[in-house]
Amino acid sequence: MTSKNKSCIIVGGGISGLCAAYWLMRENFDVTVLERDDTPGGAMKTVHRDGYLIDTGPNSSLETTPLFNELFTSLGIIDKRVYANETANKRYILRDGNLHAIPMSPGSFLKTKLWSTGGKLRILKEPFIGRANGEESIAQFVERRLGREFLDYAINPFVAGVYAGNPEELSVRSAFPKLYRLEEVYGGLIKGMIKGRKERKQRAEESKQSAKMFSFKDGMGTFPRAIGEALGDRLILNTTATSIEKNNGEYKVTADTDNGQKEFTADHVILSVPAYHAARLLGSIDTSINDTLENIYYPPVTMVFFGYSKNVISQPLDGFGYLIPAKEKRKILGTIWSSTIFPNRAPEGHAAFTTFVGGSRQPDITRHDETTLRELVHEEIASILGVTEKPEFYYIKKWKRAIPQYKLGYGKTIEQIEEFEQKNAGLHLCSNYRGGISVGDCVMNARRTVDTIIETA
Ligand SMILES: Cc1cc2nc3c(=O)[nH]c(=O)nc-3n(C[C@H](O)[C@H](O)[C@H](O)COP(=O)(O)OP(=O)(O)OC[C@H]3O[C@@H](n4cnc5c(N)ncnc54)[C@H](O)[C@@H]3O)c2cc1C
Repeated sequence: MTSKNKSCIIVGGGISGLCAAYWLMRENFDVTVLERDDTPGGAMKTVHRDGYLIDTGPNSSLETTPLFNELFTSLGIIDKRVYANETANKRYILRDGNLHAIPMSPGSFLKTKLWSTGGKLRILKEPFIGRANGEESIAQFVERRLGREFLDYAINPFVAGVYAGNPEELSVRSAFPKLYRLEEVYGGLIKGMIKGRKERKQRAEESKQSAKMFSFKDGMGTFPRAIGEALGDRLILNTTATSIEKNNGEYKVTADTDNGQKEFTADHVILSVPAYHAARLLGSIDTSINDTLENIYYPPVTMVFFGYSKNVISQPLDGFGYLIPAKEKRKILGTIWSSTIFPNRAPEGHAAFTTFVGGSRQPDITRHDETTLRELVHEEIASILGVTEKPEFYYIKKWKRAIPQYKLGYGKTIEQIEEFEQKNAGLHLCSNYRGGISVGDCVMNARRTVDTIIETA
């Protein structure tokens, strides 16, 4: 089947929209990407300042799909990719004010003071716990299978680190489908992890636990920038789509550009914008989906990047960084030791820290002004790491609506999105509120959307 002369407008030049556009371009589609900002990448942007490299959104990605290699090779950026320093396998969790390394072997599991003996014995019961009766939050699922202590001192900080979310609110089936599947298919997490390894090998996929972590010498922004360059003038920046209409089997997208309002028409439209923007754009086609998309919660997150002279840090920075359980009652979610993980993140003799604040746990903290945020993050870091002086460098990025929360009942949201797409052939919703929030999930979702378009073209 030939797909020549078919056309597609992609609204939103974040990594989801860019990957979809790139693949469709290679299938000879006439592709146009409309992006509101003056650079491509959406959440995935890198800033260089005073010798520091700052990733304001994702700091790294896990190599969970072979699509990455394929894309990086064809974009000519495979040599710019860097894998995380092995030290970064070590991750810390704060408990009672002290950092504890997450155990990586049976020996260190037995020795760790991160969990009490009772908590460890409770984990050993996991293979004997039955299946759930109905939909559960992550907190309910983990407490039932692994006990309260593991929820508080492993999963709670992990969920804050991945979703900036709250395990009590998120649906285990929607937010961690692979974890949920271990129980559903294999009857338990430990049993499932052993059997699931074989299945993944067959699909050439990596589990998130074993996938390698990567970025680029010049930061994560390298990836969207390379796609932007490959798209050339198919990518139109500083252009905000304002409405979409359906006309005789074609779609018309109206957008505000540098040169006034413009109209674009195509057979297909991929909406790769956050759900709340998609809701507004779809208003003139079908309002039934508006509430569903508007109701997806994106809590605010602020990224506070600090550069310290290494002399003022007493703690060895021998890991990825640390996450903080809600029970510790701190004002930050966790800190990535960016200059330990990848090269070029800080000038010689300095260390770079990326700290996240807010999320569903403490959205109000993000409302503080920059001076207050700087003070409170420094105070937390000083008390946790024994840093004796203030940072020499800082950079703050506020994400007012950062990461979509796959809350309880999210399965219904996804069903409604699917029904909407069936009713409106040629219209596709592809962004991180569907199919996973990680960079790897966005890339895999974009591929699925492109495959659907090619099949129906
Ligand atoms: C602070 C932060 C840290 C993260 N850390 C990690 C991490 O370490 N690892 C990981 O795997 N994932 C991480 N993620 C998640 C991951 O980065 C995102 O899920 C992913 O980048 C989202 O890509 P997207 O293309 O779906 O959406 P976005 O990146 O949000 O892109 C949407 C694009 O649409 C554009 N747009 C919006 N409205 C319009 C309009 N009307 N017209 C035209 N354009 C419009 C926006 O400008 C934007 O460029 C992080 C996310 C955040 C916010």
